[in-house]
Amino acid sequence: MSYIPYGKQSISQSDIDEVVKVLQSEYLTQGPAIAQFEDAVSRYCGAKYAVAVSSATAGLHISCLSLGLSHGDLLWTVPNTFVASANCALYCGADVDFVDIDPKTYNISISSLKKKLEAAEISGRLPKVLIPVHFAGQSCDMEAINELSKQYGFFIIEDAAHAIGSSYENHPVGSCLWSDLVVFSFHPVKIITSGEGGMILTNRQDLYEKLIRLRTHGITRSEEFMTCQSEGPWYYQQLELGYHYRMTDIQAALGASQMSKLDLFVSKRHDLVARYNEKLKDFPLETPYCEENTHPSWHLYVVKLKTDLVSLPRKEIFTRLRLAGIGVNVHYIPVHLHPFYRNMGFKDGDFPESESFYGKSITLPLYSDLSFQQQDEVVKVLEAVLS
Ligand SMILES: *Cc1c(COP(=O)(O)O)cnc(C)c1O
Repeated sequence: MSYIPYGKQSISQSDIDEVVKVLQSEYLTQGPAIAQFEDAVSRYCGAKYAVAVSSATAGLHISCLSLGLSHGDLLWTVPNTFVASANCALYCGADVDFVDIDPKTYNISISSLKKKLEAAEISGRLPKVLIPVHFAGQSCDMEAINELSKQYGFFIIEDAAHAIGSSYENHPVGSCLWSDLVVFSFHPVKIITSGEGGMILTNRQDLYEKLIRLRTHGITRSEEFMTCQSEGPWYYQQLELGYHYRMTDIQAALGASQMSKLDLFVSKRHDLVARYNEKLKDFPLETPYCEENTHPSWHLYVVKLKTDLVSLPRKEIFTRLRLAGIGVNVHYIPVHLHPFYRNMGFKDGDFPESESFYGKSITLPLYSDLSFQQQDEVVKVLEAVLS
């Protein structure tokens, strides 16, 4: 069997045709494909506004800026995420702190969040922004987080890089019903891809107007936002410091084409997850737990070793799987334990649940084109390694 990666894109002839159409058209960038992709995603999610950007990282950055995050402010996220969820605060000159995860869902722990907010209120260091991360595509408890945001007055940006196609309380993740902004990623390992790319969703018109400017240098071409009358049809004004975070039409065409297959991709992932759960139920590991009010997209299939029942260390199990051609991975190295964050004062033991999860978890291959035969091979190799 050839190497089975932990995740990868699914590209069909119709995707290729849509990209070729753009290549043969007038506009490779700043053309009509961007708005078509944005409309497809905002309609799917039931959000008013969508802003396509060059990556989810760019999306997180300008989302923070749109909320006014800056020097002296504080952003909280979880350690069990990709570094981008925390770095976006530092891009804005703000400080970062973390809230530990729940040991069942691996998402933000609501009880830890409550305790930390109570302490922060007393010390006068409440966060301005909270970024909950929908790990593996399973939504966080957004109702509880939303309640706390009203009580303590912080903004919410959902890091939904894993979660397009997921739902929570029967609403698509991206509806922005419980948050200010939601950010998706379209990197090839995620649920749908545009090569590289991201999208921000919001129901707030003020944030939308700011985001549109921030993704293109802080420039406006609409007279209603200008400080004076337009000087002519060529005229534009830079109103604030923005960035070049645009997506190309080539990418947007791929993204829009992939959107038409989103539900199919998610249902294939669900079939594969159900098969894994069944085949691994007697293995010395914990399979993913799913809350009743969530329907995850299952970006990742992460198992947690029952270390008291397994003789080999995780590293050895991981290495043997890789040697056998199984492209396992680990999600995530706790952000606060990277040297860059240790230099800010974070250390081992700060967030024990995230650290414990990191020490025991292995991400098995899962993507919509993974065949049952390949999946059976993963299970067979894993069984041999664990026995
Ligand atoms: C992939 C990912 C990102 C970053 O997405 P890009 O589109 O690569 O910038 C951010 N957060 C999480 C949780 C991710 O998995």
